[in-house]
Amino acid sequence: MARTHANNGDPAAGRHRVVIVGSGFGGLFATKALRREPVAVTLIDATNHHLFQPLLYQVATGILSTGEIAPVTREILRRQRNVSVQLGEVTAIDADARTLTVAGPQATERTVPYDSLIVAGGMTASYFGNASFERFSQGMKTIGDALALRAQIFGAFEAAEVESDPGRRAAWLTFAIVGGGPTGVELAGQIGELAHRALAREYRAFDPEEAKILLFDVGERILPTFAPRLSRKATTALERLGVEVHTDVKVTDIDAESITVADASGSERRIAAKTRIWAAGVRAAPLAALVAAATGAQQDRSGRIAVAADCSIPGRPEVFVVGDMMDLAGLPGLAEVAMQSGRHAARTIVARARGDRAPGPFRYRDLGTMAAVSRTSAVASFRGLHLSGRIGWLAWLVVHLTFLTGFKNRFTTLIHWGITFIGNAREERAIIDLPQED
Ligand SMILES: Cc1cc2nc3c(=O)[nH]c(=O)nc-3n(C[C@H](O)[C@H](O)[C@H](O)COP(=O)(O)OP(=O)(O)OC[C@H]3O[C@@H](n4cnc5c(N)ncnc54)[C@H](O)[C@@H]3O)c2cc1C
Repeated sequence: MARTHANNGDPAAGRHRVVIVGSGFGGLFATKALRREPVAVTLIDATNHHLFQPLLYQVATGILSTGEIAPVTREILRRQRNVSVQLGEVTAIDADARTLTVAGPQATERTVPYDSLIVAGGMTASYFGNASFERFSQGMKTIGDALALRAQIFGAFEAAEVESDPGRRAAWLTFAIVGGGPTGVELAGQIGELAHRALAREYRAFDPEEAKILLFDVGERILPTFAPRLSRKATTALERLGVEVHTDVKVTDIDAESITVADASGSERRIAAKTRIWAAGVRAAPLAALVAAATGAQQDRSGRIAVAADCSIPGRPEVFVVGDMMDLAGLPGLAEVAMQSGRHAARTIVARARGDRAPGPFRYRDLGTMAAVSRTSAVASFRGLHLSGRIGWLAWLVVHLTFLTGFKNRFTTLIHWGITFIGNAREERAIIDLPQED
């Protein structure tokens, strides 16, 4: 590998060097919080975009285009003169020398020095160590996952149109989703919308309403982080779209043709399903293990890094871990936690570099959680206030439009939502990968 030393350019010379790893919510908001500060920021990510993960399911189900939820990071930050955006994967950390090793494009490798480091590497799917779950189901963490799932969903309907064997056609039209959290619920709802509304009258060999959409969760109710009343409302809304909600059910096997589940009594059933979606578990990205090895930080059971109250690593006050990868006071893996903790780390770094008093412990301001269940129905919780149905959906709409990055994206997203939610159509259905027999 060619080895070069990163040069952040002359404007950086002599300034406090803040390196931020990850251009998700944590890293991007930390970067933006430093825009008026006399520091030299380097933002490194293995992708070239900032991903709005909460709307991945809308790319997978043909509502939004990739650009609307994954704008290019350097475009977002083009007016921020003190930041250099760099594509590359952090492969090693030397906490004593205060350097990162970054594998870049074209098999290059470079060393990037820092004075302060913010790590915001996020989570990745966890298959609980089961290789066949990983191999034979589609996860939902990256833009590549969403496009692959889009190809599977729309490809399955295409395959069903030309399949003459009723059993095999039924398997193409069976969509099994594992995990009853917001991602699983939103996906199930939108596949239900496709089958019952958006694709009506398009096929000749079958009626899309024949599609079976199965949502499995091992817990006793879906959306377990919401109030029980909202879980019930979401279940009813899904059932209205023809989704079968199966709780207290454990997935025991997934293969190229089917999914096998066991109920509470242990009795197993195998279901032929060509589309199998994994929305069940997450664990910290591999970067967390590098951080732990370099700094001696503790990792919890899902690999997240234990941080001190100000989001820095105990004994390494110049290294911060924020967002999903941070283990602090049981805070959940939410976009708002990542944004606020990213900003907090940035402010702490600036205060220390100036010799001012640091802001102290990170305090999360809870802005609630929400999940869209169908075309015009959502559930939302905010400090004891529980919203559902159309009112919940309006709250969902306002919050998501507010947090989408860039005016242009908000505008085109609003148009796509109009087309989908009022007109019942899906604009983004082109697929490249054709359905294959596994
Ligand atoms: C499908 C889905 C739906 C969600 N829905 C909601 C929701 O409705 N509401 C909500 O609040 N939250 C939701 N979340 C969670 C929310 O998206 C996360 O809490 C948030 O993205 C965390 O931000 P982060 O910056 O910590 O990590 P991320 O946004 O995951 O960003 C991590 C970044 O680090 C980069 N990275 C990782 N390792 C390396 C490396 N070694 N080198 C270089 N770069 C690296 C990755 O490429 C990535 O860009 C959802 C998540 C998913 C997956």
